[in-house]
Amino acid sequence: MYPVIDYNKCTGALACYEVCPAEVFDIEVLDEVKKAVVASKEDCIECEQCVEACPEEAIELVEG
Ligand code: SF4
Repeated sequence: MYPVIDYNKCTGALACYEVCPAEVFDIEVLDEVKKAVVASKEDCIECEQCVEACPEEAIELVEG
């Protein structure tokens, strides 16, 4: 499984980037706001810390 970010909800808190123990996320500027992007989904260890940390509930883990 790997995380998918709903950018309709993401406000750029970067909580997922900070909490992820596997460095799955990177940071890019999207619509002039620094936001996390899923950069190496194959490294995800499915710990769900990003899902729990996101203040906007913008992340879910999907099969794959
Ligand atoms: S589930 Fe864990 S390892 Fe996977 S992206 Fe989220 S914080 Fe990182």
